[in-house]
Amino acid sequence: MNKIRYFDHAATTAVDEEVLKEMIPFFSIEYGNPSSLYTIGRNAKKAIEEARRRVSFAINCDPKEIYFTGCGSESDNLALKGVAHANKNKGNHIITTKIEHPAILNTCKTLEEEGFNVTYLDVDEDGLIDIQDLKDKITDETILISIMFANNEIGTIQPIEEIGKIAREKNILFHTDSVQAVGNVKIDVKKMNIDLLSMSAHKFYGPKGVGAIYIRSGVKCNKLQDGGHQEKDKRAGTENVAGIVGLGKAIQIAYENLETYNTSISNLRDYYEMQVEKNIPYVKVNGHRIKRLPGNSNISFKFVDGEALLLNLDMNGICASTGSACSSGSTNPSHVLLAIGLPENIAKGSLRITFGKENTKEDVDYLINNLVEIAQRLRSISPEYLEFIRTEKS
Ligand SMILES: *Cc1c(COP(=O)(O)O)cnc(C)c1O
Repeated sequence: MNKIRYFDHAATTAVDEEVLKEMIPFFSIEYGNPSSLYTIGRNAKKAIEEARRRVSFAINCDPKEIYFTGCGSESDNLALKGVAHANKNKGNHIITTKIEHPAILNTCKTLEEEGFNVTYLDVDEDGLIDIQDLKDKITDETILISIMFANNEIGTIQPIEEIGKIAREKNILFHTDSVQAVGNVKIDVKKMNIDLLSMSAHKFYGPKGVGAIYIRSGVKCNKLQDGGHQEKDKRAGTENVAGIVGLGKAIQIAYENLETYNTSISNLRDYYEMQVEKNIPYVKVNGHRIKRLPGNSNISFKFVDGEALLLNLDMNGICASTGSACSSGSTNPSHVLLAIGLPENIAKGSLRITFGKENTKEDVDYLINNLVEIAQRLRSISPEYLEFIRTEKS
């Protein structure tokens, strides 16, 4: 087997060793239930509260405004359903975008079935919403605006502070799916007027199966499931203590090292894109060139099938993605790439590379060499490409 070269950090990340070290005792000696009153129970409770403090410090809120959940998808469900149900006496209109993660889009579909009206904002060719369009879509019935902080496929970062300002002025709640942004972007929920924010540990070198949500004090948000009174009665079920400890440590490490981390991964990304554009013809970089996650690169390779590209890269030990992991296995082109205006055939030839802390320049060179060779080979057997070359020459 080839050495694995991992370029899919938007799908998930490996647990950081320091994070794992802090988690381990809570699987073994510190196995107490945080609701129990004896010492090992209290120790578990203390560890959860320390994690809560770390999360609140990272995004500038009060620890009591943080609730731990089972994943980013659960946080998104809780934000949308919880707010919609608790505020339905005020109105039935929700505004979101066409490029959200399925955890938002499918939750909105469920809410539509319940009778809520949902507006899905368009985005421009860089993936940005239009602020004027958002203002125009607000009605007296609007109770919630949910717009992702950064997109998981093309990395585009939305004007969150501007959106927050508008929402606050109009007295509308503002939720942002920040699963891709946390650990990559500075976040200040107070300054940005964010009312609810979702995150997931496994996207920033924490464990899978644990997430968190920030809910500003005073915001009405119903719980999703009934049971015990854990997490201030917002999330029944015995806490995933080790996971929560891992999330807390991971977010602390991420924000202590934010600038050096961002610089190193954006350098690798920029080098990669420069080499691709130099060495492979008929490519297009997707997403906003500046307002973009530091480690994200989404490139369309004309006359290349994305799935075939992925399989060939995998044979050489390279992990990448054609879009979101959630839609792989299906042959439909990505809803995000269609929303930024790519034709179906170009959207299907797109490759998402997301860089992370273990990547080196040598890994990137290996990736580029493989891409050059594979793209050439796939094109040489593509009827569309051969036809294009023939007409080009005549
Ligand atoms: C990964 C992701 C989610 C889902 O998080 P899980 O913890 O895997 O449920 C939601 N939104 C975005 C933008 C994501 O990238």
